[in-house]
Amino acid sequence: MDSSLRIARIAGIDVMIHWSLFIILFVLSSYFYVSHTPFGFANLGDFERIAFSILASIFVFVAVLLHELAHSLVAMRYGVKVRGIVLFIFGGVAMMEKIPKNPKEELAIALAGPLTSLLIAILSFFAALITAGGISMFFLISAYFNAILTIFNLIPAFPMDGGRVLRSLIARRTSYSKATKTAAGIGKAIAVAMGIIGFFSLNIWLLLIALFIYLGASEEEKIVTAEDLFSRFTIGDIMTRTVISVSPETKVGEVIDLMFRYKHLGYPVVKDGELVGIVALKDIMHADPNAKVEDVMSREVITLKPEDPAFEAFRIMGEKGIGRIPVVENGKIAGIVSRSDLMKIRELLDFLEVLEWKRS
Ligand code: ZN
Repeated sequence: MDSSLRIARIAGIDVMIHWSLFIILFVLSSYFYVSHTPFGFANLGDFERIAFSILASIFVFVAVLLHELAHSLVAMRYGVKVRGIVLFIFGGVAMMEKIPKNPKEELAIALAGPLTSLLIAILSFFAALITAGGISMFFLISAYFNAILTIFNLIPAFPMDGGRVLRSLIARRTSYSKATKTAAGIGKAIAVAMGIIGFFSLNIWLLLIALFIYLGASEEEKIVTAEDLFSRFTIGDIMTRTVISVSPETKVGEVIDLMFRYKHLGYPVVKDGELVGIVALKDIMHADPNAKVEDVMSREVITLKPEDPAFEAFRIMGEKGIGRIPVVENGKIAGIVSRSDLMKIRELLDFLEVLEWKRS
């Protein structure tokens, strides 16, 4: 995440905070300052009141961090790379590379967070019982907060941990993609129910959470079905082999003519058969029509190999927001994959799936 500050490194995981966290820390501290027991420290004397309010608001994020760390540590045990944990205004995210599709492993990773929060809640509750004054109030708030964190995360809908728990349980009996579809469907149904309740009770928070869950469920479903569809193909299977390319000496004006003629908004720049750059609409927008392509092109080009899985194209286009990726074999350009190629393949596969379903 941009504009994040690294504050620590725990077990090889970078812990970062986003600037939006400071707003919520201030809001939370103020809330604890003005609220009475058990929601705040307004009953205490001035100094203790300020100190505990700040401490409790910081601890809220320590609790979130511990929750995310638990997910990360279990994931690392299964060989998942964890790029870092970011704490921001709505909580925390552990940035993991590819969560395993083994239901048992996914279940363990998903449960690690809520179980940690539950454990902290229980310990805090007992600590509150055996202490007194401000310290006891602090532990009581921690117990409440961690209990809410546990329950909220166990809602059986993506992107909550409960959604992953649900999918891994369903995936024991069926395929991963079918399990995702079923789990996403259940998540959407829960979101709709929450939305209706939120609407009639005029609860804006419930409405927002419902929307968040609905979008999360749709997104997860989209990614997994695409991965499933494209897993049967390599880039070589789906790429366009006739590539319209330009040379470094081509004039910008000619590139514009090509764009009008072929309706492609990006062209590989090739010199002696080798890819040296790519020129897209954004590169030539403010350029002189008589300038050469080599003066405006991007030299850092993301490329694919024909043997790469087709899903890679889908993933890169989504992550980097690019529409066309050249395919290179032994340094020479072998083809190109575009976003519209992927859409067409997808339409075709959806159609084939319907055909197969009709046959069976
Ligand atoms: Zn979690």
